[in-house]
Formats: sequence, C-alpha cells, structure tokens
Amino acid sequence: MAETLSRRAFLAACAALALPRPALAASSPRALVGTVLAGPGLTPLPDHAVLVSGARIQAVLPAAALPPDTPVLFRTGHILPGVINCHVHRVHADDDRRARHLVHGVTSIGDAASPLAALRELARSPTGQTATAACAGPMLCPPGGYPLPVHSPEHGLPTTSPRQARRHVRFLADHGATMIKLAFEPGPYPTPWPLLDTATAAAAADQARKLGLTVRCHVEDLGGLAPALDAGVDVVDHVPHRHITPSGPQPVLIPDETAPAPHYLALLERMARNRVTLAPTLDVLSRSLWRGPCQTIPTAAFHALGGQIAVGNDFPYRRTDAGMPLAELHLLHDAGLPTRAVLQAATSGSAHACGLANRGVIEPGAQADLLVTRANPLEALDTLADPVLVMKDGVVVRG
Ligand SMILES: [Zn+2]
Repeated sequence: MAETLSRRAFLAACAALALPRPALAASSPRALVGTVLAGPGLTPLPDHAVLVSGARIQAVLPAAALPPDTPVLFRTGHILPGVINCHVHRVHADDDRRARHLVHGVTSIGDAASPLAALRELARSPTGQTATAACAGPMLCPPGGYPLPVHSPEHGLPTTSPRQARRHVRFLADHGATMIKLAFEPGPYPTPWPLLDTATAAAAADQARKLGLTVRCHVEDLGGLAPALDAGVDVVDHVPHRHITPSGPQPVLIPDETAPAPHYLALLERMARNRVTLAPTLDVLSRSLWRGPCQTIPTAAFHALGGQIAVGNDFPYRRTDAGMPLAELHLLHDAGLPTRAVLQAATSGSAHACGLANRGVIEPGAQADLLVTRANPLEALDTLADPVLVMKDGVVVRG
C-alpha cells in the first residue's frame, strides 16, 4: 500500500536536500513528459508521459492523452527507471543511503553482506526519503571458510549442517534480511579454505526460497562456481576469473584469450539455462592484479548466451565510487554489452538480483522510482552522471 510523508517529514527532507523548488505532495497525480524508456526492454516512446499517483506509476501514455489539468513536473528529457546498484556494503543509515546514492539517481541498493547489527538500519527505508535497501546480513560459510580469513568475524555465519543452515536462514529473515548470501571461495593453494558442502548450501537455498528471499553467492575462483550452482543459487556475485593451480592462479580462458575455457563456458551455459543472474562487479575486480580479458570475456560470453546481468560495483571496497556506478556501466559496455543491455542490467536486472519486485521498470503498477536525463542514455551513458530529476516512490528528491 502506498505510504505518504507527513508534511513535517516532507519539509524536513526538502530542507535536507536543498531542493530548489517545492515538490508536489506525493498523493497528487502528476506527470513527467519526454521520451519514456518503457518496460523491461527500455523501449523509447517519444512524446509520452509517465503518470504517477502516490508512490506508483499509474499509466504510460502519449503526452497528448494526458487528462486535462494534470500537473507536469518535467517536459523534456529521457525518462528511465532509477538505477539499482545491486552490490554494495556499509551504507546502512537512511541519511547515508540518501546522500551517497539516492540523490545521484541510485534509487535502490543491494547490501551484499554486512554485520547482523546493520540489518535493522537497512530494513528501515522511509518512503521517498532514501534508497531502498535489499540486504543479506552475514554470509553463510563453513567454519574457517571465506569470508572469515579475510574479513572480520561478524561478516560470516559459520554453518555446519543442513538443519543449522535452515535455522540460520530463518534467523536472518527474522532480523530483516531480504537476501541470503552463501560463500563459495576456495582460497589459496596449497591449503584451500573449506567450502560449504552441497547438502548444507542446498538446505539454505531451499529455506531462503520458502521465505521469499533471494539467494546470492560470492565466487571469484572458478572452483566455487559448480558447488554454488549445485546448491541452487539465484545470483552469482563477481565474475569468476581465475582458478588456483599448483603453479599459481590462472585465468580460465582459451589460450588466445578470446573465449572462456570449455569447462567454464559449460558452467556459464548452465547459469543462462537456469536463469541464474551474474553480477560481475568489474569495477572492483579491475582494481586488483586481475583485470581485463579474464573478467570481461566471461561476462560478454554470458551475455551472448542470453544470461541476465546485474550492476554492482562493491562500493566502498578498493575505493569504488558512491553514487551513479558509471565506471561499472562503462566496463560492461567496453566488455561488449550494448548500452541497452547495460541499462537493463542497471535497472530490471539489478532489481531481479535484489528481489525488489515492482522496481527497475517503467510500467503501470511499478513503484515510481524515476530519473530524467538531458541526453539519451542509450546513446550516451555519461548523461546519467547528472540527472536533472530524481523521483523516489513518487517524491521528487532532486530537480
Ligand atoms: Zn562485496
């Protein structure tokens, strides 16, 4: 059901964001007019209007067919769904999510693993005031497994049996988690980290699905991908880009580096067939010693197989940027994805990866999370760096 802000809260939000002009009350029907990038396909509809009522999109219609006297907030530009950064960390408080993400046009985020204490803050998403958060809480992992050797203990929830996995998933859901993240990182040779056994991981995934939670997983070494798929994950976070062997880590490409190695390609085909989303996080990965074809070739191959890609940059790790994840968008484009596929990944793809139903798309009934850009983002991604209007749940937060 649509929520509305109290007048006091609304004026406080306006003051905090230094809006140049007062926005209309969220409950008043109003319209944005321009070229609408409509539906999951982002089909351009010139001279169209998005009619917003309360927090939702009521209709997409030709501008000439707007009911008379409908207030029009904006008359030119390209109107697209708010961008969703599906993989971030450490943006827990409402104010932080508003200042670092929402006012830049990132209307939702996916917190892809945080300490348990963060879930309470993340679950609080006052309508129209902050980027909506999907959140995972600590990753389920085996004792001694990733992320425990690398990150602080509060980022992992050691899990040793199917029964405990189901209990941990229920526990996280009770604390506000909307996603579950499983760790599948084999770690260094010759003493690899342990991996979750298939029965335990599959029980966690099954319990998550029963509760309506999305199942994410961390995989960078290809050795973790098949076990993750065996468990039944919905999303693979980080494109697997190396495999550790007795002679050291190796890329998983054919020798001329134009395609994934056959056994990797088979796993990518399995992902595409089973509608498993890939969130490559190329921005953060490219800031390590591993960069280039070992990451971009599998990403492009997965896209060519019809696989669904999502946009996440792993902010703030390795100094990735807050706000519009432009570097990630450009890296996906440079990898070979057309701009339309990049924008689909950043909107409906990321919404799907975060389990955010009714977001990431412009269609009747969807939440009114909208951007207006000066130029056509299908031709110039950089126009996303400076949106002229940002609407969140029907409330103008920039414009
Ligand atoms: Zn991460």
